[in-house]
Amino acid sequence: MLVVMSVAATEQEIEAVRQHIEADGLTAHESRGEQRVVIGVVGDVGLRKEQVMNHLAGLPGVESVTPVSKPFKLTSREFHPADTVIRVGGATIGGGTLTVMAGPCAIESRDQLLRTADAVAAAGATILRGGAFKPRTSPYSFQGLGMDGIRFLVEAGERTGLPVITEVMEPSQVEPVAAFADILQIGARNMQNFPLLMAAGRVQRPVMLKRGIAATVEEWLMAAEYIVSSGNPQVILCERGIRTFEKYTRNTLDLTAVPLLHKLTHLPVIVDPSHATGKRWLVRPMAVAAVAGGADGIMVEVHPKPDDALSDGEQSLTFEQFAEMAPVLRTVHSQVEGLYAAEV
Ligand code: PEP
Ligand code: MN
Repeated sequence: MLVVMSVAATEQEIEAVRQHIEADGLTAHESRGEQRVVIGVVGDVGLRKEQVMNHLAGLPGVESVTPVSKPFKLTSREFHPADTVIRVGGATIGGGTLTVMAGPCAIESRDQLLRTADAVAAAGATILRGGAFKPRTSPYSFQGLGMDGIRFLVEAGERTGLPVITEVMEPSQVEPVAAFADILQIGARNMQNFPLLMAAGRVQRPVMLKRGIAATVEEWLMAAEYIVSSGNPQVILCERGIRTFEKYTRNTLDLTAVPLLHKLTHLPVIVDPSHATGKRWLVRPMAVAAVAGGADGIMVEVHPKPDDALSDGEQSLTFEQFAEMAPVLRTVHSQVEGLYAAEV
């Protein structure tokens, strides 16, 4: 439920409401808007719901208490009507900006990463990606360089000035990786790894949560809710295609998810046309379509020699292809700026 404080509510009144919520065995999450404070109440109220609501409604400074109709609470637009804007290094994600995340699927060597980082930075990427812990379908495929890869990523980030994002696959990786990476990525295969989501909720780094291969939008938002309710409000969602009966593409890109998510949640939405299509030549049209449809940005894989890549070469762009695509995305973004704001 949402406790909407009146515009004139004092800090003491807000604190008293918080204490009442906690005394009831529930958790209070504050959202400070321009005008007023809204307190999201989460926890299992069961049959006590009406009693708890009436009690809170009678406290000084409380304007109204309303139930949240959706199962996701803290990630819902009802709780937080304004867009969440995430600032990391010199980059801003959400709030009308265009985020371009680019880099290799896997960090294969220092040289491969630094060359790619230089190329994507020069072409206008805003965030550098690179996998060090790789979730591979086959146990015999290249599994990533682990913490050595993270060291190269930090070097590449410092050299280019770009914030860096990399994947974590299990809870024990969260703290050590968060000590170096600017953004943590939770991959499609781990979207419902609840211990991992909760561990990511306990660090002060933004987390990009990719959609599970068979996840509904609601399941995805519930997964994001795990991170936010564990204490980390800085979550970015990434649509990367879902599994369907179609075989020509690696996955099926669900672009409807972009405006849908913008309606349901305040979190930024990124689209990954590389994993969504699995084919290099399909990346650019789908990246353009994503930006045209209101995505807050895209994530793409780029490799110095895609045909020699140790992972996902077929869907990786060459440096030239990335450099040709980036200005097109900026043009499309400027054309649709402000177009969707009224619809959410
Ligand atoms: C990746 O970004 O390299 C990756 C493994 O993506 P996904 O989790 O979407 O498959
Ligand atoms: Mn990949």
